[in-house]
Amino acid sequence: MVPGATAFPWPGGRRAAVSLTYDDAVPSQRVQAARQLGARQLPGTFFVLGKSEDLSRHRREWQALLGAGHELGSHTIHHPCDCSHSWVPRGYTSQDYDLPRMSAELDQTQQLLAELGAPVPHTFAYPCGETQVGQPPQSYVPLVSERFLAARGVEARVADPWSDALEQVPAIDGARAAAELLQLVDQAEAAGGWLVLLFHGVGGDHLPVALEAHEALLEQLANRRGAIWTETFRNVAAYVSACRAKQA
Ligand SMILES: [Zn+2]
Repeated sequence: MVPGATAFPWPGGRRAAVSLTYDDAVPSQRVQAARQLGARQLPGTFFVLGKSEDLSRHRREWQALLGAGHELGSHTIHHPCDCSHSWVPRGYTSQDYDLPRMSAELDQTQQLLAELGAPVPHTFAYPCGETQVGQPPQSYVPLVSERFLAARGVEARVADPWSDALEQVPAIDGARAAAELLQLVDQAEAAGGWLVLLFHGVGGDHLPVALEAHEALLEQLANRRGAIWTETFRNVAAYVSACRAKQA
């Protein structure tokens, strides 16, 4: 928070917000993360990837996440990332894209969300946290801003609800030990901020957080509901946006 600024008026007098976000639509999220969240009635945001095999195979179960109070957001169809990553298929690197191609893919990803039944406005997470495509690189942030309520960036810190741009909200990788995750929640509370955690695998798949660490975090968030507002990325972004408009 900006020194001297008033504390952000989180709903119900709470002192901070936390959004739990999950990228790439991998099986451990649909199974493990959804189960742990459901057991505590905590909402999460799943930034699904159009090309995800698990999404094709278990489409109904992914859709069911909406009914359980979770958010489905966009993480593109093909996950374009810099060509320096050897795992990015050639033809789908950021360098292979230009703005019209990215624009078309963003339309496609919104179409997918609509087909899945995800209500508008939608939100977005930049693949690899990259915001540029093409050669020479050009920002596609404006393309995202005109389509999405908010987007998750990758600057690794607690977001300031008064001043951080909703088109690139800072987020912290949650693949950490339980103690570190709990510390981040404390840090958000002390700052009156918005902690956006990004996860990949949960107890499996790639770049995973351990199941026990994820569970300990959720347990803490459930126990501290009165002080910490755990809400989807979309709902917090909408709330933040409304508070700012009121203040202006
Ligand atoms: Zn990703």
